Amino acid sequence: MEKARDIEGELEFMRDYYRTGKTKEASWRRSQLKNLQALLREQEAQIFTALDQDLGKHPGEAMRDEIGTLIKSLNFALGNLKEWMSGTKAKLPQIALLSSAEVVPEPLGLVLIISTWNFPFGMSLEPLIGAIAAGNIAVIKPSELAPSSSALLAKLIPAYLDTKAVKVVEGDSTVGEKLLQQKWEKIFFTGSARVGRIVMSAAVKHLTPVSLELGGKCPAIVDSLSWSWDKEVAVNRILGAKFGSCSGQACIAVDYVLVEKGYASTLVELMKELIKKMFGENPRKSNSVTRIINKHHFLRLKNLLSDSRVKDSIIYGGSMNEEHLYIEPTILMDPPLDAEIMTEEIFGPLLPIISVKKIEDSIDFLNIRPKPLAIYAFTKNETLKKRIISETSSGSVVFNDAIIQYAADTLPFGGVGECGHGKYHGKYSFDTFSHFKAIARRSFLTDFWFRFPPWNDYKLQLLETAYNYDYFELLLFVLSLKRPKTRLSYI
Ligand code: NAD
Repeated sequence: MEKARDIEGELEFMRDYYRTGKTKEASWRRSQLKNLQALLREQEAQIFTALDQDLGKHPGEAMRDEIGTLIKSLNFALGNLKEWMSGTKAKLPQIALLSSAEVVPEPLGLVLIISTWNFPFGMSLEPLIGAIAAGNIAVIKPSELAPSSSALLAKLIPAYLDTKAVKVVEGDSTVGEKLLQQKWEKIFFTGSARVGRIVMSAAVKHLTPVSLELGGKCPAIVDSLSWSWDKEVAVNRILGAKFGSCSGQACIAVDYVLVEKGYASTLVELMKELIKKMFGENPRKSNSVTRIINKHHFLRLKNLLSDSRVKDSIIYGGSMNEEHLYIEPTILMDPPLDAEIMTEEIFGPLLPIISVKKIEDSIDFLNIRPKPLAIYAFTKNETLKKRIISETSSGSVVFNDAIIQYAADTLPFGGVGECGHGKYHGKYSFDTFSHFKAIARRSFLTDFWFRFPPWNDYKLQLLETAYNYDYFELLLFVLSLKRPKTRLSYI
């Protein structure tokens, strides 16, 4: 199913397979997760090559952000699958005396995963782990902008996973649109807000639930740290989360930095020093600088700097090479806030530093802008930390590090507001691809006669007691056999 031809027939074939119940079996889910793990381990070299061809990504970065993270997620899913599948006990109200209840997860069915080019394996396979763990069948549409990775996924997935249950459909937006016309039980989309809107409109037709993992501008608030060690650790982490992770082409990359005016020069000097440590005197020669994905995005980034006011704010870097899709790690000091670089998601190695009078002003700065996918704050000030948690809204908040939240199996990963909705990773992925079915069981032995018409004032009182008090009080009331006085005037 490399091409989108005869999609309907292929999907019907998959649905028939789903109806056999095979994918609901714990043993099937477990074997598929193990096979996926084998794929990542055995085909590591091919994956490194594909990521190098598409993005010039170093194997170290590929291991940290994609292969390693995925293997870790698979270990977590395999270790917890039994518990996730077992459901949870629940209770019926006491009006249903002698009863039991539980919540049972069931798979949704056929799900569509549309993914991006920046982490082509991570963005395709991380949701797939949840979809398989929850017992679904899935179609993955990788991004056409990372063609080597997309082709490798299309080659390896059928070689390792159950071909009747997991398919890869390669192609561009027209293929994406064709897929969106089909009926899915869930669409899990990672990408831009623009396409997110197209996905959501298409989902309306079949009332399909969607998860939208979108982007935004993630700020790093940097408080004036007093120890040189703290400063160095903080700046290293910020640079790593901007220039050292897909060259800033990541949804949770640090988009810009907020810092007190008086501390800005200290911060910038340290940044310059540590950029050299990471990428050498001439970053263009470094094999640790991931390339811009294509000419379109290169020109988009170049265009962000074309505004003369923005150009004038460059204080470090700024060189670029179109042929090699290379942009030097670049720092800008106080570019105008109405320039595109400060109103749009940057998604590249350009780092604006925005100075504020007091670091607490950052909170107001953020609150008049769209909610970010992540807020990073480098501070030891506990009051500021509390204020950031309680007074701002974002997909996540990380203190004194950045991007690390993506690797957590026990934290929900997802956005709020314009950076998307829905959450995944670990149990949240399992839940995202599950329906939680309510199961209630009653005994025939007991029944409260006052649950049924004909209604009278006595039944009204008993119902009120049953819903508001415990069994003992209800029993006393029933045993008193006294007709209670009218409580409501209209009865
Ligand atoms: P994109 O929206 O252009 O494309 C994403 C996917 O949608 C691709 O597979 C593409 O082929 C497909 N697509 C494009 N047009 C389509 C259409 N009309 N119908 C159906 N499918 C269509 O995004 P991108 O350029 O690949 O990725 C960059 C964006 O993704 C950034 O905004 C970034 O922040 C966001 N992102 C978010 C996360 C997250 O986890 N929240 C992760 C990575 C990237």
